[in-house]
Amino acid sequence: MAVTILIVEDEEKIGRFLELELVHEGYEVMKAVNGREGLEKAQNSKVDLVVLDVMLPALNGFEVLRRLRKNSDIPVIMLTARDEVMDKVAGLDGGADDYMTKPFAIEELLARIRLVLKKRGGVVHLEKNQLSVGKLRMDVQRYEVSYDGKSVELTHREFELLRVLLENKNIVISRDTLLEKVCGYDYMGETNIIDVYVRYLRSKLDDVFQVKIIQTVRGVGYCIKDEN
Ligand code: CA
Repeated sequence: MAVTILIVEDEEKIGRFLELELVHEGYEVMKAVNGREGLEKAQNSKVDLVVLDVMLPALNGFEVLRRLRKNSDIPVIMLTARDEVMDKVAGLDGGADDYMTKPFAIEELLARIRLVLKKRGGVVHLEKNQLSVGKLRMDVQRYEVSYDGKSVELTHREFELLRVLLENKNIVISRDTLLEKVCGYDYMGETNIIDVYVRYLRSKLDDVFQVKIIQTVRGVGYCIKDEN
């Protein structure tokens, strides 16, 4: 069963562009061109996530979100104009799951959509079996990893850590989140275990193939970036 995303956006060009990209990614897409229609569809249709523009006719995005949150916790990603920081804060305070600043890179929006859906505990059906960055390939179903065609042997936790990072490419994932995803919510062991696994992964990938796959973001966590 496909995941349905509602796009609430009055700018036809952007709406159309988002629709094409999301359909291409395998999502079902519904569209609304003003706040009132967006609210109505979000409340009365089977929708899994809403991409909600802030500047909308009829009802603005914040108002749509406020009314929606009275009886729905459907995931919402807000689109704000340029860098209106106050808008972002208002959006997150108002119960948005995430926000994107226009203009945005579509890959980043797609990554955030995946992350939000995943956080909300859904969408196994959209999980890709093949993950990759550069010459690194991961086959999730076969549990195989290779670099430039050469097989790499990983332990279960190394594999899971690499998988989480690859599934959220270009997004910095905190150590806490990685710990939860890799070791489980009830993990009671060493808190620096993620750093240890990152070291193991680097010794099996970076050191062997002379690359830098996992980036450390100081004070935050780790990230795998698409090659620049
Ligand atoms: Ca707009």
